[in-house]
Amino acid sequence: MPGEVRVRYAPSPTGLPHIGNIRTALFNWLFARHHGGKFIVRIEDTDQARLVPGSVDVILDGLRWLDIDWDEGPEVGGPFGPYFQSERLDIYHDLAERLVSQGNAYHCYCSQERPSQDGQGARDRRTSASADCKCRDLSQAEISELISKTGQESEVIRFAMPKDGITKVNDLIRGEVEWRNETLNDFIILKSDGFPTYHLAVVADDHLMEISHVMRAEEWLPSTPRHLQLIEALGFEPPQFAHLPMIMGPDRAKLSKRHGATAIGEYEHDGYLPEAMRNFMVLLGWSLDDKTEIMSTQTIIDNFTLDRVTKSAAIFDQEKLLWVNGMYIRELSPEQLAGRMMPFLERDLPKELLPVDEKYLRRIAPLLQERIKRLDEAAGMTSYFFQADHQFDTETLVQKGMDRDMTLSALKTALDELNATDDFQHEKLEAVLQAAGERLSLSRRQFFGVLRVAATGRAVSPPLFEMMEVLGKDRTVSRVKNALERFSAAG
Ligand code: GLU
Repeated sequence: MPGEVRVRYAPSPTGLPHIGNIRTALFNWLFARHHGGKFIVRIEDTDQARLVPGSVDVILDGLRWLDIDWDEGPEVGGPFGPYFQSERLDIYHDLAERLVSQGNAYHCYCSQERPSQDGQGARDRRTSASADCKCRDLSQAEISELISKTGQESEVIRFAMPKDGITKVNDLIRGEVEWRNETLNDFIILKSDGFPTYHLAVVADDHLMEISHVMRAEEWLPSTPRHLQLIEALGFEPPQFAHLPMIMGPDRAKLSKRHGATAIGEYEHDGYLPEAMRNFMVLLGWSLDDKTEIMSTQTIIDNFTLDRVTKSAAIFDQEKLLWVNGMYIRELSPEQLAGRMMPFLERDLPKELLPVDEKYLRRIAPLLQERIKRLDEAAGMTSYFFQADHQFDTETLVQKGMDRDMTLSALKTALDELNATDDFQHEKLEAVLQAAGERLSLSRRQFFGVLRVAATGRAVSPPLFEMMEVLGKDRTVSRVKNALERFSAAG
């Protein structure tokens, strides 16, 4: 690729970054890393009315969580800063005035800003060809007269769109797209609050920051002819454009809350691994070979080219995400899984069970590694390992086909056997307890069922003997003893 690849992620800090938004960041980052180029973060904070305090931090935290690092931008700086558009107002003013002096833009004196016509992105689709103002054609004398009559200075600066001809883009993903200029209105480039609109700011900064490829969501495609016209009027070299496919729910409706969490932070909170999330998000519009689902970051970077990005909408399938997450969880070592679970246990376990012993947790981890799909299940799946005693209905000790006496003798026998066993190793435990059950003429299901409830308070648990080994002799014995005492007392 000739010249250095420089791509940018340009979020507006207007709330929680959602999946689609972060997917754009991820694709830009992968593209930069594939080409050995630069990935730039630029904060597009020119729409003052929509700013949400704190969202820049949330956006950057989302990137950090996914291990997406940026070469230039907030916190790290860079040679093309500042990277917040609100700190670049002089630049936009100069460019707007330059366009006015060249005759490519004009001061508009109409009092309302007609936001429905001059907003960003998707709203652009609703624009009509002719803004119903006459300011574009006013002579200097008419302007002076207007000002003296109304006492009103210029409200905004509008770009004077060519009234005929076509504007074409050769989009790297969507191919050639063209618009008839007569269908595009004279959009605002500088607002009455002194801030530029998105259109002017994005064109100015993509040029000044030497962006080689503008890769963004498809919803921005309708803005592209405006950008190309601005670029031409300013005499800039246009970047390459690549518009990423929409993300939809399984019902083919635009992704929304209805389909599950949409903000990236919610996935962190819900116990998805960032590497799983990243792998899953890469598949939202890109594929290696139409079949491989789980890939290392290096494989993705090595193969991340735009010809593998689809034109058709990507489907966000929560079930698949869960599956991908499970796959990644199973790949962790017990130490790693314990480390990943720890913050969730600290957050979700009852306070009296904290702190969790790290060494103990590392032994517990393999027991649930095959079953756990999200880390936020950890507390529910492990709490009985930490509880001193279980509160459970002692009637659940009685297994199918057993009566009270059989259950009592099962508990007594088990307790004796456990007390007599010093080598608390799962094969040994199984052999000893299997023989004891046979002596009582109980089936495995019956005898081990009693033991499982006694040891955990639950009817379902990881493999019984592995679990007892992890619990250790003291805990196991004391639990079975407790169960026996409570069961006898209840009789
Ligand atoms: N500020 C726009 C956004 O929030 C960026 C659009 C673009 O990348 O040009 O998505």
